[in-house]
Amino acid sequence: MNEVGSGGGLRKGIPYQDVIAEMETASAQDADWRAARTWSLVYHADREVEAIVQAAYTRFMATNGLSPVAFPSLGRFESEVIAGVGTLLGAPEGAAGSMTSGGTESLLLALKAARDWAAVHRRDRGEFEFLLPETAHPALYKAGHYLGVKPVPVPVGPDFRADAAAARKLATPRTILVVGSAPAFPHGVVDPIGELAALAAERGILCHVDASVGGMMLPFLERLGRRIPPWDFRVPGVTSISTDLHKYGYAAKGASAILYRSRELRRFQFFVQPGWPGGMYASPTLAGTRPGGAIAAAWAVLRLLGEDGYLRLARTASEAARRLMEGICAIPGLFILGEPDMTLFAFAARDFDTYALGDCMRRRGWRLDRQQLPPSLHLVVTANHAKVVDAFLADLRESAAEARGQAPGVAGAAYGMLGEAPPGANAEDFLLDFLDQVL
Ligand SMILES: *Cc1c(COP(=O)(O)O)cnc(C)c1O
Repeated sequence: MNEVGSGGGLRKGIPYQDVIAEMETASAQDADWRAARTWSLVYHADREVEAIVQAAYTRFMATNGLSPVAFPSLGRFESEVIAGVGTLLGAPEGAAGSMTSGGTESLLLALKAARDWAAVHRRDRGEFEFLLPETAHPALYKAGHYLGVKPVPVPVGPDFRADAAAARKLATPRTILVVGSAPAFPHGVVDPIGELAALAAERGILCHVDASVGGMMLPFLERLGRRIPPWDFRVPGVTSISTDLHKYGYAAKGASAILYRSRELRRFQFFVQPGWPGGMYASPTLAGTRPGGAIAAAWAVLRLLGEDGYLRLARTASEAARRLMEGICAIPGLFILGEPDMTLFAFAARDFDTYALGDCMRRRGWRLDRQQLPPSLHLVVTANHAKVVDAFLADLRESAAEARGQAPGVAGAAYGMLGEAPPGANAEDFLLDFLDQVL
């Protein structure tokens, strides 16, 4: 795909209405996320939220956050988003951050800041390392790869939480950063952030919490009385936290926030190039041009919902997640992996093939991500899913009966893409071919 010659190149222009019609046709086979049959990739609250996001995005789509001088509106929006998110994350006075394009960019910047901080503050030079639970998001491995900092995976226990004692043994003088997830995506459990941050503080290094998926949900669950293991800036030793607004913030795609305990720390994230003939250049994040639409849409949804709106949506989503988990456990042969802290979780079959169960559900129109090590199916539950809980459980009960005794189904690449390396094939080559040919 994406090959020159395959799409026919630029064609003669067509009327506006025809372009609209072509888009309509093109999207006919897309996942129908409004119907809530998809359990990842899209975080949808309701029609009103969608409408405000759309209005804000379209209004500001041409603007560029690279210059808050040309667009003071965007400067104000970003600043209010960071202040709002910072309060949710228990950030102390003086904490500072930036909006980015997503969880991956936020993590990349957290590692970049840690690397550049270490270059100034640590005596050990040479190859830097960082510790991350093996359940941590691949974006961190990507960041390590891009930035030349070696990821050192920390095993997780039977409860899928990082083993803090193992982390302690893996820390070396080259370690510059300890990462934990709140929660990790695969099983929805929060790592022992207190212990990981204590280790970082003891060694005089930094500690980042990846709350990409949890940052806009855990604070509200806590306000609703749910007991959540401590994970935010109230934990001493936590030096930065990332939170995606395009997940449980229900913003448009392309919005995340990265916050640091102090402005001094955030400074290590920045990049400047004073000698450019185009003028002295200063860029706070990875992107050069920063999409005003995404910044404005994130601000608009925070403004529309406010604390009370997010509380209402969190209550609906967590109630739906609770009913789903109870319903799943009541189906013979199915179980939940670990003890999820939030509204996303994995389940599996005990005495038949979990992927075959995924196939049976797919035939009934449900898109469930397939995980591995061990095999499981994955649900990210949003407020929009409340309406399908009963239908989902009815289909799951039927599917479980059908899958029993069936041949194994196919495993999955992440996020709903199916694929399995043929026996004996190199998994990395298989995935590179997959990107080369399928995408
Ligand atoms: C989604 C996610 C990421 C990556 O975020 P993107 O917005 O997809 O780049 C990182 N960490 C966790 C825990 C996530 O859930």
